[in-house]
Amino acid sequence: MSESSDCLFCKIIAGEIPSSKVYEDESTYAFKDINPKAKVHVLIVPKKHYANAAELAAADPAELAHIVSIAQQIANESFHGAYRLVFNTGLDAGQTVFHVHAHVLTGEKLDE
Ligand code: AMP
Ligand code: ZN
Repeated sequence: MSESSDCLFCKIIAGEIPSSKVYEDESTYAFKDINPKAKVHVLIVPKKHYANAAELAAADPAELAHIVSIAQQIANESFHGAYRLVFNTGLDAGQTVFHVHAHVLTGEKLDE
């Protein structure tokens, strides 16, 4: 884990940058993506800073499982439980924020 004072999502978690909160508990925060790619597009992040999904999986697999269960909960509430879960990992895969985040896309039928 490498805490970053320059991290956008650490600042959102700390409330220093506003966000549209969807869910929060002691370890995890979820908020609406500012540039939604589906009717419901939520980002779920661990409050602790990990750069990507592999780092999180190695350090805290229970938190990764917790994130999946929150994604399911959001999809149950906003659709009929179907959702797409994406972790962009690495610059060349489209990762732009290096604080691990699950994209939850749901709320409507998604293109294949
Ligand atoms: P990625 O490209 O996988 O790193 O995803 C970063 C996501 O963060 C993008 O989908 C952005 O639209 C989203 N994003 C960037 N800044 C904000 C913000 N201030 N609030 C909410 N979402 C944001
Ligand atoms: Zn961070």
